[in-house]
Amino acid sequence: MNKSNAKKILEELYNDITSKIDGQDGIISKDHLLDLMRSTVDMISNLDFELPDALDSLRRSLDDGFKDLAKESIKHYDDTNKKFEELAFKHKQTIDDCQDPLISIEDITDKFSSIQMHMIEEVSKANNLISDLTKKVERLEKTSQIDHLTKVYNRKMLSEHLANICKNLHHTNDIHLFMIDIDDFKIINDTYGHVVGDKVLIFLANILRKTLRDGDRIYRYGGEEFVVILNRIQKTECANVANRIVSLMQTNKLIYKELNINVTVSLGATTLRNTDTPDTLISRADKALYKAKKDGKNRIVLDEKDGN
Ligand code: GH3
Ligand code: MG
Ligand code: MG
Repeated sequence: MNKSNAKKILEELYNDITSKIDGQDGIISKDHLLDLMRSTVDMISNLDFELPDALDSLRRSLDDGFKDLAKESIKHYDDTNKKFEELAFKHKQTIDDCQDPLISIEDITDKFSSIQMHMIEEVSKANNLISDLTKKVERLEKTSQIDHLTKVYNRKMLSEHLANICKNLHHTNDIHLFMIDIDDFKIINDTYGHVVGDKVLIFLANILRKTLRDGDRIYRYGGEEFVVILNRIQKTECANVANRIVSLMQTNKLIYKELNINVTVSLGATTLRNTDTPDTLISRADKALYKAKKDGKNRIVLDEKDGN
């Protein structure tokens, strides 16, 4: 459940109780008021947002006016719980005070209302906090440069970097792009499950990080595809790096729990041309990768044509 549902419960609780009190035209009995307060105390004490059961006990503790209110999960309210405990304690104190025959109904009602108002304020504070945090998370997601699973650059950064590279096509021969795709990844997922599939993605990202030099950049292009951009490197050395990546993947096994998992990759490589746009560059690497797959996977294919 979300905050608005919790808020709604408390607001309706408050409104219902106050309207019941108002509806009595000043002749509400102390017993009736105490009953209402006890049910509120029960409700507040039962607001354990971690436990789905809390919803049932919450429902049970509410009288007719609130039966339909508590419907969804209230997980996100852990922090507010403590405040509610304090309020429940205050409620209990108020009830204890009520045992004194000299205390007037008016006093009790005032106290009761002020506690209810506190509850609504607390929920409203929590709402604001959560909505602020939600906005922050959204903003972070938008400005994020990193793929959260593999911790390499994400595709948004690839687009930005490629746009920059293609704007300054001076040292084209020094820049190379690899498109790398895990072989038979679907089978890995189907055989071992998605958690292991995710470990394989991290495994490949780590091998790439270890193999490449500072200044080379690794991106997750999507799913099980990665792009690497190498700087200041000759074509022959670039082919060596590509071969090293493929052979490291083949010779290293991913050990996870009792499993030894063999993973291979295919790699298509191309060199930046001075007429390139991001799309033409990617598309050449993609074609080379396609050929590597068609030729039997677990290999590299270099786009041999020199377009400069
Ligand atoms: P090929 O050798 O031709 O590349 O075959 P493949 O099985 O690797 O390729 P395919 O495109 O058939 O399957 C890719 C699979 O990758 C399907 C998809 O469910 C899975 N996948 C994509 N993203 C993720 C992810 O983040 N985690 C996991 N575990 N699997 C993913
Ligand atoms: Mg793929
Ligand atoms: Mg694949």
